[in-house]
Amino acid sequence: MIIPVRCFSCGRVIGSDYRRFEAELNQIRARNREPTPDEISAIMDKLGLERYCCRRMVLSHIELIDEIMPFS
Ligand SMILES: [Zn+2]
Repeated sequence: MIIPVRCFSCGRVIGSDYRRFEAELNQIRARNREPTPDEISAIMDKLGLERYCCRRMVLSHIELIDEIMPFS
């Protein structure tokens, strides 16, 4: 749906990091290829997402709000 503002486990603010994470992924996708796992890991390191609880929040999030909005 919408990225939670804070990590469920540790409470770190991650809502603002998700936009930057997506922007970095889209820069790589603009070069007509999918980001490799190492590149994704490097992006999360760069954003300061060190704990695996925060990393899973950003990595496993699926943005569904645009698909659900027409039905609300
Ligand atoms: Zn966390």
